[in-house]
Amino acid sequence: MAASVPISEVKGNTRENRTAAHSHIKGLGLSNGYATPSGGGFIGQAAAREACGLVVSLVQKKKMSGRAVLLAGGPGTGKTALALAVSQELGTKVPFCPIVGSEIYSAEVKKTEALMENFRRAIGLRVKETKEVYEGEVVELTPEEAENPLGGYGRTISHLLITLKSAKGTKKLRLDPSIYEAIQKERVRLGDVIYIEANTGAVKRVGRSDAYATEFDLEAEEYVPIPKGEVHKKKEIVQDVTLHDLDVANARPQGGQDIMSMMGQLMKPKKTEITEKLRLEINKVVTKYIDQGVADLVPGVLFIDEVHMLDLEAFTFLNRALESPLSPLVILASNRGLTHIRGGENLPPSAHGIPPDLLARLLIIPTHPYTPDEIRRIVETRTKTEGLAITQPALDKISQLGEKVSLRYALQLLAPASVLARVSGREGGRIDLDDVTECEGLFLDARRSAENLGQEKGFIA
Ligand code: ATP
Repeated sequence: MAASVPISEVKGNTRENRTAAHSHIKGLGLSNGYATPSGGGFIGQAAAREACGLVVSLVQKKKMSGRAVLLAGGPGTGKTALALAVSQELGTKVPFCPIVGSEIYSAEVKKTEALMENFRRAIGLRVKETKEVYEGEVVELTPEEAENPLGGYGRTISHLLITLKSAKGTKKLRLDPSIYEAIQKERVRLGDVIYIEANTGAVKRVGRSDAYATEFDLEAEEYVPIPKGEVHKKKEIVQDVTLHDLDVANARPQGGQDIMSMMGQLMKPKKTEITEKLRLEINKVVTKYIDQGVADLVPGVLFIDEVHMLDLEAFTFLNRALESPLSPLVILASNRGLTHIRGGENLPPSAHGIPPDLLARLLIIPTHPYTPDEIRRIVETRTKTEGLAITQPALDKISQLGEKVSLRYALQLLAPASVLARVSGREGGRIDLDDVTECEGLFLDARRSAENLGQEKGFIA
């Protein structure tokens, strides 16, 4: 088969928008297991960060199977940020899949199906492939003709002879007609520097060689030096995908036969349903290739915020899924105390609305409210990450709001305040006190909004 897209160009599934508010978080910021004052972009919350550090070690020592973590604390105390930091500590390109408990309820998809999908988004696979490639400047391009096989007039092109040159020598290749087509499609000419994959026949035109630049001085061409090494070389290509990417890509009747054909499906979006059978098939192939050393499993983090929104059926699923050898680290979060389990209103209230059998498997880490100084430093860090300029009085005001209302609310005001600052033509778009005060008036926090409605006629709470 000719011209499949090189595997390195496929992008895995990252739900960046969900984690944008945490872009200043780069890890737990620990040194020898102890939290440093503002390490990894993290301020305060030292005990929780240290506890999370221990969880990271347990995962690395494979001592977390069948267990999960619960972060228990008020809104905006950094639970999501901690879970993200744990995934960062587990390694680069470790999947982080954040969801909110209520997300699993929809008219189209079963609750357990939605949970399963997110479990698989949180499990990564690192596939290693050695590709043989020919890379060099085209110095000869000759079609080889053959008698017309139908015996008529004219001749057909049977092969293409191509000679590639690198700094270390030349290589003559005889390409079959399918690769010839790819060469034509790429409009390859003498003097072009091209790249041909040995096993797939994929052809890529990288640019024109420097030598041609001086000879013809053509404009609007991308000139590249002649490749330094051998024309024929082996390249190790590493690609990170999630099990969910493979499910989606292979959701069609014939499925994937081996890991490379499964990976080959990644670029072709399809609409067919992902069935249990398909997942089992994919698991089988994945396990086989892990055993053969072609792929490595990269278990990531599934973060379920507002876990009290899950119901008994979802908790049962969760309990079972934790036992699976293909399980990510599950981090739950709750800001509820003693409350009824959804779907179990006839049962006595339970801690965080979680059934006792699951509670028994949890490592519970509390998160605490921030001090005014910590809030100020978090706001400062956030402004720096977003590249915003802010005056001292404006910073004081935002920090006060973080203390009085919530950290979330305060941080959310930064972006609109910076827009106002620019609209008002402040020097360097620097946020001033007036911008913050105006934003505070324009955007209500939840409590003020509820009070507002309560005071209006007909909306007496
Ligand atoms: P909730 O569960 O109520 O949605 P949460 O406890 O998950 O809230 P986060 O979303 O993690 O809170 O925190 C709110 C914001 O504050 C985020 O932008 C987060 O990155 C930032 N933040 C929270 N704690 C810290 C901290 N200790 N250091 C730096 N930034 C923090």
